[in-house]
Amino acid sequence: MAAIIMDGRSVAARLKETAAQEALALAQNGMMPHLAVVLVGENAASQVYVRNKENACKKAGIRSTVLRLPENCTQAELEDAVRALNEDASVHGILVQLPLPDHLDEAAVLRLIDPDKDVDGFHAMNSGRLMNGQRGFVPCTPLGVMRMLEAYGIPVRGKHAVVIGRSNIVGKPMAMLLLAADATVTICHSKTENLAQIARQADILVAAVGRPRFVTADMVKPGATVIDVGINRVDGAIVGDVDFDGVSEIAGYLTPVPGGVGQMTIAMLLANTLDAARNRGQ
Ligand code: NAD
Repeated sequence: MAAIIMDGRSVAARLKETAAQEALALAQNGMMPHLAVVLVGENAASQVYVRNKENACKKAGIRSTVLRLPENCTQAELEDAVRALNEDASVHGILVQLPLPDHLDEAAVLRLIDPDKDVDGFHAMNSGRLMNGQRGFVPCTPLGVMRMLEAYGIPVRGKHAVVIGRSNIVGKPMAMLLLAADATVTICHSKTENLAQIARQADILVAAVGRPRFVTADMVKPGATVIDVGINRVDGAIVGDVDFDGVSEIAGYLTPVPGGVGQMTIAMLLANTLDAARNRGQ
C-alpha cells in the first residue's frame, strides 16, 4: 500500500499563520519581535536560505534585519558584530547563517551568541538544556520534525525511533527530542555496522545523512513513518536522503523533498523568535 505523504507545506502554513497571530498580539502590546541574521560572504545557497527567512518574517509581521559581512571579514569583525547584536535590546533572536567561510571559527562564533537570543539553538547552553530536559531553544529542523509527527498523530511513546546522522544541528537534537517524547532511540552514523538491519526495526526512521536516496525500501519496516531531512542537489534538482519512489511503496507515512521537513524549519524559526521576544517581555 502506498504511504501517506506528509505535507510539510500545509502543516508549516498553519504554524506560520499561528506565528503571525502571535506576532500581532505582541505588537499590540508594544513589542515588535525582531530577528537579526548575520550573513558572511556570497554562498549561493546561504543567500537563498536567508532570503526565505526574511520573507517568512515579513509575512508573519516579525521584523528581520540582515547584517551582511564580506567574504574576507576577520574573526574579530564577525565577533564584534555578534557582540553588538547581543547588546542591542531591540533584537530578540540572532542567527548566524552557516556554513561560514573556511577561515572563520564557527564554534567560537556560536559560543558568543547570547543563549537567550540563540533562536537556532546551536549554543552549548541550549544543547545542554535539551540534554537535561530544561526549557531552552531547540534547533529548528528537529523541532519541525516533532511538530510534523504531532500534526499527523504519529505515536512516539514507546516506539523505536532510529535516527541516521549524528550532527549537532540535526541528528543529536533529533534523538534527544524523540527520547524526551518517550521513544526508544537508536542513533546510526557513518561507522554503524548493519545499518540496514537496524533501520528495518524502526517504527520512526529519520534520515539526516546528506546522501541522496541513501535510505532504500529494503531498509524500511512495512508501515513505518519515514522522515527525510536531507536536502541534496542532484543534476540541478533537490532530492532527499530517502529513495522516495521505492520507500513510498512500503512506508506508512513519508515526508517528500521538497515540501516536507524543509518547510517546517522556517516555521520553527518564527516560533523560536517569538519565544525569545516573549521571554524578554516577562
Ligand atoms: P552532516 O554532514 O553534519 O551530518 C551527516 C551525518 O550523517 C553524520 O553524522 C554522519 O555520521 C552521517 N553519515 C554520513 N554518511 C553516512 C553513512 N554512509 N551511513 C550512515 N551515516 C552516515 O549533515 P547535517 O547538517 O546533519 O544535515 C544532514 C542532511 O540534512 C543534509 O542533506 C542537509 O542538507 C539536510 N538539512 C536539512 C535541513 C532542513 O531544513 N530540511 C536543515 C539542516 C540540514
